[in-house]
Amino acid sequence: MEYKEEDYLSLSGIQHFMFCRRQWALIHIEQQWEENLRTVEGRLMHISAHDSIKTETRGDIIITRGLPVFSKELGVYGVCDVVEFYQSDEGVNLFGRPGRYLPCPVEYKKGRPKENDMDRLQLAAQAYCLEEMLCCTIKTAYLYYGETRHRAEVPITTEMRDKVKNVFAEMHHYYNRRYTPKVRPTKQCKACSLKNICLPVLCKNKNADAYINHMLKEESSEKIT
Ligand code: SF4
Repeated sequence: MEYKEEDYLSLSGIQHFMFCRRQWALIHIEQQWEENLRTVEGRLMHISAHDSIKTETRGDIIITRGLPVFSKELGVYGVCDVVEFYQSDEGVNLFGRPGRYLPCPVEYKKGRPKENDMDRLQLAAQAYCLEEMLCCTIKTAYLYYGETRHRAEVPITTEMRDKVKNVFAEMHHYYNRRYTPKVRPTKQCKACSLKNICLPVLCKNKNADAYINHMLKEESSEKIT
């Protein structure tokens, strides 16, 4: 199956979706967004990684920054922070360059490696797009973490490709129905950039009246002190 261009979803949305499906729906379906320190720092890091679309050569490696990518099969579009092209017999021809090259996406992250696989899935989705666009097979990609200043190798496996496919199929399903899941508070709500819009505490208290009374009490006690 191939998606139409007008139905493409943002590739980077896989991060939001894996973090919390409601967060993804609030951002990508309801177009709500709230900046906090983490999102601003993350955005600044990506701006410097993209540094506009630029290509340079270092030895045998061609490095491209801010490369737009898409996949008809996944129905997604996005931008790769960095794609390095290594000379390889298994690679593809690049316009104006002798030899064959294999692409290798490198994604920049502000923090440190996470326990979950959301970063790896985003990277695998980029690899999926590049494979489809350039008719090649990518075996390896990299994640660079700003906090540890370390570049971690990520094997692009069949399992990861399948997972990426399934996750985007689920995202398209939600998007077609314009479905925003209900609040399910978890410990990650504390770090969520949308907690002030989503208000998970309302759900935790179950009773909206109780929450509003609580907030009014807090407000009046602040005025007295
Ligand atoms: S506050 Fe919690 S439930 Fe709401 S969007 Fe964020 S992570 Fe999801």
